[in-house]
Amino acid sequence: MLTYEEFCLRADEVETRIAAACQAVGRPTKTVRLLPVTKTHPAEAAIYAARRGFGAVAENRVQEAAAKRPAAPAALQWELIGHLQSNKSRLAAETFDRIQSVDSEKLARHLDRAATESGRQLAILLQINAGRDPAKFGVELEDAPRLLDAASACPGLRVEGLMTIAPLGTTPTETAELAHRTFANLRELRDTLASRSGHSLLELSMGMSGDLELAIAAGSTCVRVGTALFGAR
Ligand SMILES: *Cc1c(COP(=O)(O)O)cnc(C)c1O
Repeated sequence: MLTYEEFCLRADEVETRIAAACQAVGRPTKTVRLLPVTKTHPAEAAIYAARRGFGAVAENRVQEAAAKRPAAPAALQWELIGHLQSNKSRLAAETFDRIQSVDSEKLARHLDRAATESGRQLAILLQINAGRDPAKFGVELEDAPRLLDAASACPGLRVEGLMTIAPLGTTPTETAELAHRTFANLRELRDTLASRSGHSLLELSMGMSGDLELAIAAGSTCVRVGTALFGAR
């Protein structure tokens, strides 16, 4: 685990990258949010993030987040970015302020029930397999309209946008090409869904340590960064 000072230096560097990527495409820096990914790191990582002024952190496992959350400042928000099984919906709805990985109608229904029973509305993103990667979770591009309809019909859910993860290529060039195509697909899907459904779907969660510049050029509003902030896992 790095020190708080080391973490702050890394955060400065990532923020500089984000600002440069925004400037390169003429976007205001404030339109992109940096979401620190604290998975596999101890609860101190979340405490560092809160201390430096981040409003939220992201985790990919429900139990891990549930165990760490009590150690962090209560105002810090937690987002789920990993695959969620329906049978863990209740704990997930209790643990997270937003779930970015909703990828099936069944999961949407379970989360809706859990949120409704606890008297709240849960913010969600729909995870899209925008890179058509057989190894990745996420609903296929063609099935996204149906999932959006189903999730929008749930009173316990508030659909705020879309999330995707770019596939890895076998070379850096191929990886960059795949990321470019994946992010363009997600952006295009969002624009199509938004004009058809009347949902603004403002949040486009895409981009990680290695590809955040490409994601920002394609319209990302939320980059999820682990390694560049906290070191290798
Ligand atoms: C781990 C993870 C990240 C962060 O990846 P880094 O390459 O470490 O920045 C982002 N998004 C998801 C869905 C992840 O699981």
